[in-house]
Amino acid sequence: MENEAIIEVSKLSAAYGKIQVLWDCDLRLVKGKTLLIVGPNGAGKTTLLKCIAGQLLPMSGNILFMGRDITRASIAERAKSGIAFISENSFYPGLTVKENLYMSSLRSRADFKERLQNVYNFFPELRSLEREKASSLSGGQRKMLLMSRAVISEPSVLIIDEPSSGLSPLFTERVMGFISQLREKGLSMIIAEQNVEFLSLADNGLVMDHGRVVFSGTGEETRKSSFVGSAYFGM
Ligand code: ATP
Repeated sequence: MENEAIIEVSKLSAAYGKIQVLWDCDLRLVKGKTLLIVGPNGAGKTTLLKCIAGQLLPMSGNILFMGRDITRASIAERAKSGIAFISENSFYPGLTVKENLYMSSLRSRADFKERLQNVYNFFPELRSLEREKASSLSGGQRKMLLMSRAVISEPSVLIIDEPSSGLSPLFTERVMGFISQLREKGLSMIIAEQNVEFLSLADNGLVMDHGRVVFSGTGEETRKSSFVGSAYFGM
């Protein structure tokens, strides 16, 4: 079905302890599309992603995955459904690069070699680093590993928090190229990012500020909206 939602978030509010940081957030990810969440520091982007991935239980509201309520499902249950969350620490530092990639393919081991070749083709550096411990990787190399791990697990929804953080402009471009390829393959993705250039990769955009969704529209509408202008992003 066209425009079928794979993730639907309604009226989600969340807190850290007693401090509320999200208020009544709505989000809709259409199957096979890319949704980009932009907003300034502290807007609540990561917190919203954590709620969807199961790392933080919301105070109220609900989250549907293909129509099924997963608001209170465990991280493991969500991962089993194919919801993959790429955050800074989603790897095993004591294992080698190749072992890390293998571990992330456990949900479906078939075609591991082929999937490994695909990520090595995009990030050839990982092939030459495959016997190195993941803990010894640089920031950029680690980012390649995190992206590759998520993709090799063949997720049904890929959630990426700040793909460009800590990366050089050159490397940010490569990561954008990788995301663009995943989008062309029809992977459903939710990406939180401060760099509004990423809106060029998005079918839909959502702007957050002070814990609320203040705008949602197509990627192009979001890029042109006043929220992505001087007031929030200094453009
Ligand atoms: P950034 O782009 O800087 O990562 P963000 O939009 O992802 O920002 P969040 O990290 O979701 O924003 O933070 C939203 C609010 O929640 C901020 O006020 C932040 O200080 C607070 N916050 C985030 N993590 C925690 C935590 N573990 N404990 C308490 N407060 C937190």
